[in-house]
Amino acid sequence: MSLLEIKNLKKSFGKNEVLKDISLKVDKGEVLCIIGPSGSGKSTLLRCITGLETKDSGIIDFDGTFGLVFQDFNLFPHHSVMKNITNAPIKVQKRNKDDVYRDARNLLKKLDLTDKEDSYPCELSGGQQQRVSIARALAMNPNILFFDEPTSALDPELTGEILRVIKDLATEKMTMVIVTHEMSFAKKVADTVIFMDDGFIVENGSPEEVFASDNPRMKEFLGKFY
Ligand code: ADP
Ligand code: MG
Repeated sequence: MSLLEIKNLKKSFGKNEVLKDISLKVDKGEVLCIIGPSGSGKSTLLRCITGLETKDSGIIDFDGTFGLVFQDFNLFPHHSVMKNITNAPIKVQKRNKDDVYRDARNLLKKLDLTDKEDSYPCELSGGQQQRVSIARALAMNPNILFFDEPTSALDPELTGEILRVIKDLATEKMTMVIVTHEMSFAKKVADTVIFMDDGFIVENGSPEEVFASDNPRMKEFLGKFY
């Protein structure tokens, strides 16, 4: 069963055609990793799916709640950890405050942030801030979680801590779309890997298929990592 289906999505900025003809499907419980060079349109694709950017044409069929985790955390600096997590469920989803706080404390426990609920983002490490941002996304009870290079702003040892969290979510069958440059992570965790280049999906398949592809652009891209 597809949770998200995109057909013939196109998006330009002025004369710059950034998404040229994107079609894909994400099933419930699936982990899709999107890889590809800088400027290939990965962030624009996530932004169109999540409504942060308008599409020019095509169909985006997604009926549900999503959570979004950015490279640079995007926490509200003037809000405590607790307020960052509970704000949208209370204000946007109009959920019961006590329930939201109870769920938020459970999420903080799960993400090993129990003692941080009154801290402010500037008092936390990058890895802790990113875990707060994941907790904030999960607090919306999303059907799909989208990550845009969630570890790119982190030191290697903090990267591992975030990748472990995402791996645990995959084990729990959370549906996720993850833009990442962590190739070994994508290989291990993804059910499906999409390789984007210059606004097109060049490869779409299992990690085994995509990483073994002899497409020249894919090989050139992978060559930069190994
Ligand atoms: P990626 O995430 O794969 O690095 P992006 O989606 O960020 O790629 O960018 C793809 C192209 O779209 C780039 O050429 C970028 O300059 C352009 N672009 C992205 N966002 C905007 C914007 N808001 N206005 C104009 N051009 C943009
Ligand atoms: Mg990007």
